[in-house]
Amino acid sequence: DIHKIGFIGLGTMGQHMAANLCRAGFDLIVYDVRTEAVQAAVRQGARAADSVGAVGRQSDIVISMLPNTPDVESIVLGERGLAHNPPAQRVIIDMSTISPAAVRTVASALAAQDIDFLDAPVSGGPVGAENAALTIMVGGARDAFDRILTVLRALGTTITHVGESGAGQTLKLCNQLVCGINIQAICEAFALARASGLDLNVLRDVLMGGSAGSWMLDKLGPGMIARDTRAGFRIDLMLKDLKLVQELAFGLSVPLPATSLVTSQYLDARGHGEGGNGNQALFTVYDRMANQ
Ligand code: NAD
Repeated sequence: DIHKIGFIGLGTMGQHMAANLCRAGFDLIVYDVRTEAVQAAVRQGARAADSVGAVGRQSDIVISMLPNTPDVESIVLGERGLAHNPPAQRVIIDMSTISPAAVRTVASALAAQDIDFLDAPVSGGPVGAENAALTIMVGGARDAFDRILTVLRALGTTITHVGESGAGQTLKLCNQLVCGINIQAICEAFALARASGLDLNVLRDVLMGGSAGSWMLDKLGPGMIARDTRAGFRIDLMLKDLKLVQELAFGLSVPLPATSLVTSQYLDARGHGEGGNGNQALFTVYDRMANQ
C-alpha cells in the first residue's frame, strides 16, 4: 500500500495537488526551491523535506510538478536526485508537461535500476487542480499505472493510461495545440465583435449555447472580456509547450500551420514583455494589431 507520497514542485498547480493528497489521507513529504511554498504546504498538513534526496528516501512513491524538461531531468537524474535516492516502492510519477523524447530517456535510465517512471501530465488548469478534477493522461508500464491509480484518483476525475512511456506527454501536446488555437479563435471573434460594437458578454453567452462553445470560452472568456491578464497558465509555459509540439511535429514531418501561427503570436506577446501573463491574454496581441 502507498501511504507516504513525496511531492516536488508546489507552484500554481502543485500547491493544490499536494493539498488534495493531504486531504485524501496520504502522508505528504514536500520540497520546492521556494521555501514559502513549502511553508504553505506544511500549514496544510504536509511535512517539509530539505532536499530532493530526502523526499525520495522518506517516501513510498514520488510525484513531481515542475516547469520544464531540464527541471525534471535534474531532480531525477542529477547528482543528488531521485535515481540515487529512490522511493521505497520504486515509482516516480512526473505530472509536468515536458518533452516526450526526454521522458523516454529518463524512463530507460530508471528502468535499468528497476524504477518505474510514469509520465502523467494533466489538463484542467488551477481550477481543476483545486477541485481534484484534473484530466490525467498516463504513459508507461501498465502494471505501475495500476499500482498508483488510487493516488491519481485523489487528483483527477478522468484518468487514462494512454500508452507506452512518453505517450502521456504526446497526448498532452495534442491537447495544448487545441488550447492555443482555441484561444486564438476566441481572440479573433472578440476583436471583430468589439470593433462592431457587440456586447462581448452577450456574444459569449450565445456562443456557449451553440456549437462554438468551449472550455476556453467558458473558463477564460470572462477574463478575456474584462481584459484580465493575470496567470493562470503563463504565456511562457504555453510557449514551452508549443515549442515541444513543433519539435515533435518537425521530427515526424507533420505540418501544423495553425500551431505555427499561434506560436508566432505568443512570441509576439513575450517580445512585448508579456510572458508572465496568463495564456488568455493573447488578446493583447490582437489589441495591438487592431489598435483597439
Ligand atoms: P509553476 O512555475 O507555478 O510551479 C512550478 C514549481 O516548481 C514552482 O513552485 C518552483 O519553485 C518549483 N521548482 C522549480 N524548479 C524546481 C526544482 N529544481 N526543485 C524543486 N522545485 C522546483 O508552474 P505550474 O503552473 O504549476 O506548472 C507546472 C507544470 O504543469 C508545467 O510543466 C506546466 O506546463 C504544467 N501545467 C500547468 C497548468 C496551469 O494551468 N498552470 C495546467 C496544466 C499543466
